Amino acid sequence: ARTALVAGNWKMNFDHFQATYFMQKLAWLLRDAHYDFDDAEIAIMPPFTSIRSVQVLVESENMKIKIGAQNVSEMSGGAFTGDVSAEMLEKLGCSYTIIGHSERRKYHPEDDVNLVDKVRATLAAGMQPILCVGESFEERRQGIELTYATNQVADVTRDLSAGQARRMLVAYEPVWAIGRGASATPQDAQDAAAAIRRHFAQAFDEDVANDVRILYGGSVKAANAMDLMAGPDVDGFLIGGASLDPEEFSKIARIV
Ligand code: 13P
Repeated sequence: ARTALVAGNWKMNFDHFQATYFMQKLAWLLRDAHYDFDDAEIAIMPPFTSIRSVQVLVESENMKIKIGAQNVSEMSGGAFTGDVSAEMLEKLGCSYTIIGHSERRKYHPEDDVNLVDKVRATLAAGMQPILCVGESFEERRQGIELTYATNQVADVTRDLSAGQARRMLVAYEPVWAIGRGASATPQDAQDAAAAIRRHFAQAFDEDVANDVRILYGGSVKAANAMDLMAGPDVDGFLIGGASLDPEEFSKIARIV
């Protein structure tokens, strides 16, 4: 069975002091709730500048929490001002990288070619990529949301081997549901996750499709987490806003 993942994408929030404060509070809340880290995996994706602070707290508080980065360079090193390599992130204790988040696709020129290279760089450094896909309101209005999302996945997986593909995670994040307060319905989330899993079965095989974890993202909170997890193909969440509140985030982790 696939281990559920509850991942908090902090986006551009929390300097390293605030990150330390958050992690202390989270540690206290989880301990207080006798949280059993074996039920689901928890991950925190801080801005680059707060990764080290999160790592120090995870170690000192003895929490089984994974760390991820919100982006990664496709280059391995050298004259690339402002970029951070996969190897550097792995050395900082990262297990995951977020690749192709809709906010990065919107504000930065990220195309499918460099997304594939970012996936490869992440895997080569021993981490796992979380590829983000999802339609905007326009595609949903046209009723082509499932093909849109699976095509975004296909654009990346067509250049990967089965061995590489099976270590990927996909986050289905419909753009219209991000930061809106209103999530997709549990049926929408399940339908998209099932379509994405079918893509892996067709492009590779059933084993690969069974291994790939598919997350839902877009206005997840404690109040809707249980319903959104009901779909058999939904393996967890990528959480923005609600991951900035330690009480809310730990509540979601306890529900999953
Ligand atoms: P919200 O949870 O704030 O809607 O953000 C979702 C998201 O973009 C996670 O990557």
